[in-house]
Amino acid sequence: MKLPISLEFFPPKTAEGAEKLRAARQKLYALKPEFCSVTFGAGGSTQEGTLTAVTEILAEGCPAAPHLSCIGQTRESIRERLAAYSAAGIRRIVALRGDLPSGYGLGGEFRYASDLVAFVRSETGKHFHVEVAAYPETHPQAKSPLSDIDAFIAKVEAGADSGITQYFYNADAYFRYVDDLAARGVRVPIVPGVMPIISSTQLIRFSENCGAEIPRWIRMRLQSFGDDTASIRAFGLDVVSQLCERLVKGGAPGLHFYTMNQSAATVELCRRMGA
Ligand code: FAD
Repeated sequence: MKLPISLEFFPPKTAEGAEKLRAARQKLYALKPEFCSVTFGAGGSTQEGTLTAVTEILAEGCPAAPHLSCIGQTRESIRERLAAYSAAGIRRIVALRGDLPSGYGLGGEFRYASDLVAFVRSETGKHFHVEVAAYPETHPQAKSPLSDIDAFIAKVEAGADSGITQYFYNADAYFRYVDDLAARGVRVPIVPGVMPIISSTQLIRFSENCGAEIPRWIRMRLQSFGDDTASIRAFGLDVVSQLCERLVKGGAPGLHFYTMNQSAATVELCRRMGA
C-alpha cells in the first residue's frame, strides 16, 4: 500500500530533546513522509524553536511545514514570519488560530484561523500550500457541530488547500464529518490525524483539553493496565492500527501522525499497515 503519510513534531525545549528528535526523525524517514510539520506555541516560548526544527528537517532533505497560529499576533508579526518562512525555502504551512495560555486574554489582530488563511493568501498568493485544522468530534469552543463545519468551510473559502483533523478513536465521526463536508461541496482532502497510544494518563489528560474523545472501553482498558507500559503500548498498537486500517479502507486520503517526537509507535503502525 502506498499511502501519503505526514508526521508532526513539537519543537524540543532542550539540547537533549533536540538530539533525541534528530534520532527519531532518522528512523521515521524510512516511511518516506510527504512532509513533516512542527507545532508552534501560541504563548511564545517555542516559536523560534519551530523555525529551527523546520530548517533542520529541510536540510535533511524532507519537505517541512511550520504550524503558524494567529491568536495574539499582529499583521506585521505574521508578515515577518511568513517572509522568514519563505526565505528559508518553506512552501507549506499549517495555519491555525491557536490557544493562548490562560491569563493572556485574546488580543492581537486575528480572531479566527480563517482570518489568517485570508491574510496568508493576500500577502503571499499561492506560494504556500495551506493546511488547516479540522474537528470530526467538534472543536470544544464551537457553538454547535454545524457551526464548526461552517468554520472549516470558511477556512477553505479563504484559500486553505487541505485539512488535518484533530485525533480521534472513533472512525465513524471522521466518515460522517467528511460526508457532511462533501454534501456542502467541500472537495479538499481531509487527512485524519492519528495519535498513537504510548501512555495512558498523559493521553487522557491531554484529550480532555482538546476535545478528543477516548471511548469508554479504551479508557477503562488503559486505566486497568496501571503503570504496565508494555501492555499499554501493545493494546494501543492494536487499537490504533485497526483504526488506521478502517480509515484507509474507507477512503482517507492519507494519515498524519502525531509522533510526540518518538519513532517506535508510528513506525510499527505503518509496518502493520504495509505502508
Ligand atoms: P478556528 O478554525 O479559528 O476555530 C476556533 C473556534 O472558533 C472553533 O470553535 C470554531 O467553530 C469557531 N469559529 C471559527 N470561525 C468562526 C466564526 N466565523 N464565527 C463563530 N465561530 C467561529 N495549537 C497551537 O497552539 N499550536 C499548534 O501548532 C497547533 N497545531 C495543531 C494542528 C492540528 C492538526 C490541530 C487539529 C490542532 C492544532 N492546534 C495547535 C490546536 C488549535 O490551535 C486549537 O484547537 C485552537 O483552539 C483552534 O484552532 P483552529 O485553527 O482550529 O481555530
